[in-house]
Amino acid sequence: MRFTVAIDGPAAAGKGTIGRAVAARFGFAHLDTGLLYRAVGARVLRGERAADAALSLTPNDLADPDALRTPEAAQAASKVAVIPEVRDALLDFQRAFAHRIGGAVLDGRDIGTVICPGAEVKLFVTASAEVRARRRLDELLLRGLDVEYQSVLEDVRARDTRDAERATAPMIAATDALTLDTSEMSAEAAIAAAIAAVAAKHSA
Ligand code: C5P
Repeated sequence: MRFTVAIDGPAAAGKGTIGRAVAARFGFAHLDTGLLYRAVGARVLRGERAADAALSLTPNDLADPDALRTPEAAQAASKVAVIPEVRDALLDFQRAFAHRIGGAVLDGRDIGTVICPGAEVKLFVTASAEVRARRRLDELLLRGLDVEYQSVLEDVRARDTRDAERATAPMIAATDALTLDTSEMSAEAAIAAAIAAVAAKHSA
């Protein structure tokens, strides 16, 4: 059985939380595609060319996800994500993951528009920049990082602009996506709405 759930939207809107919950509920595999771009960005910060890093990415690059979930890796990721060769190099892996037997949930920016235009369910998860910055700040503080609200908000806004305005695969809701604005929703309510959308198309 192949079944793909595409979840797109801006940073810290709740895509990962929703994606993991949907995957657990239906027994699907889950891929946080942002980690691929973060891994490329991290290698560029170490002096590599972006396209070379993307072409030679291995599971080893993703072995320590927390090391990639830093504000520096996030900014580096959104800079390499504008480069068409980088996006091309990561395409086949993401498509193969999406079509794996047993079902898959992918979250990112261009899953419903470019990677899996035929996904059975498409969600666009969003929230105000202020709410997203507050959530990301709480996550980073919990992990012991030394960050302030204002710099997290600026990071979120800079990435929103770069991700939405790039020429290749910009962040945009697919025309057939269900939009979930989680600004005033609990995580439980957002997860329930996503599960209902998947259940309507999938009988398991
Ligand atoms: O989702 P996350 O915040 O980890 O993504 C980091 C960056 O990677 C995003 O700001 C975006 O520039 C890029 N990205 C992308 N396409 C995806 C996933 C992430 O361009 N499918």
